[in-house]
Amino acid sequence: MKVDGLQHTALFGPVESRRYGVSLGVNLLPGHYKICSFDCPYCECGPTDRITSAEIPKRLFPNGGDVVAALRNRLEQDRDSNRTIDAITLAGNGEPTLHPDFGQIMEAMGRVRDAWVPSARIIVLTNGTTLDRDPVREGLMVADERIIKVDAATDEMMARMNCPVGRQRIQDLIEGLDRLPTFFTQTMFVDGVVNNADDAHVAQWILLMGAIRPAQAQIYSTDRLPADTRVRPVSRERLDRIASRLIDSAGVPVTVYS
Ligand code: SF4
Repeated sequence: MKVDGLQHTALFGPVESRRYGVSLGVNLLPGHYKICSFDCPYCECGPTDRITSAEIPKRLFPNGGDVVAALRNRLEQDRDSNRTIDAITLAGNGEPTLHPDFGQIMEAMGRVRDAWVPSARIIVLTNGTTLDRDPVREGLMVADERIIKVDAATDEMMARMNCPVGRQRIQDLIEGLDRLPTFFTQTMFVDGVVNNADDAHVAQWILLMGAIRPAQAQIYSTDRLPADTRVRPVSRERLDRIASRLIDSAGVPVTVYS
């Protein structure tokens, strides 16, 4: 689910997407403030406050019980109004797994989903920086789809594409993914002030994808106002060529979004 600017409430949408159908967004981050362990120059939420994100005081996060109660109330209203949703997507103002109660919230959301709209899929978009934490991995396993950001194949490219707030290496990501049974990946390709779509980096990225073997790779480019306006989108034709190279070289299923 694309997040266009900051979301001011715990729930947002629903929006209709080709992939997930009618998807209700859940924001586990503050309503007027982005918290993330990355500071991607293309981020639609704007720049990360790197000092505060490094400290991340718990009081900044919304109460998990309140978010789950809001979801339950919404699903109850939807049922009373004969409205339905196809997916519950955790995205929002930064990195959802940074919420200190992420694991418990996911368990509670799973129960609410089962009670009110059992056919809806729970989807989590994450940058994968917290996969070393047991409660995060356990929470992610409540989801039907775990979509992990993999924009970079090298530490140098990660430093430019994602600007980690803390110390984060590609090897950390590989080891974290190794502890997840199944996952999808999502890769933003951009050009301009940072370029992860050139042939040399794409070749390294394909090697990485062949090693981590996602159930599906999703690739796309930016189409909204990025945090850094010197970031430029990559054309659909270029994305299609990258997809073909990935299939031919690594045999990883891929979907191109544009
Ligand atoms: S990981 Fe997502 S929320 Fe965080 S800075 Fe990057 S694009 Fe923004």
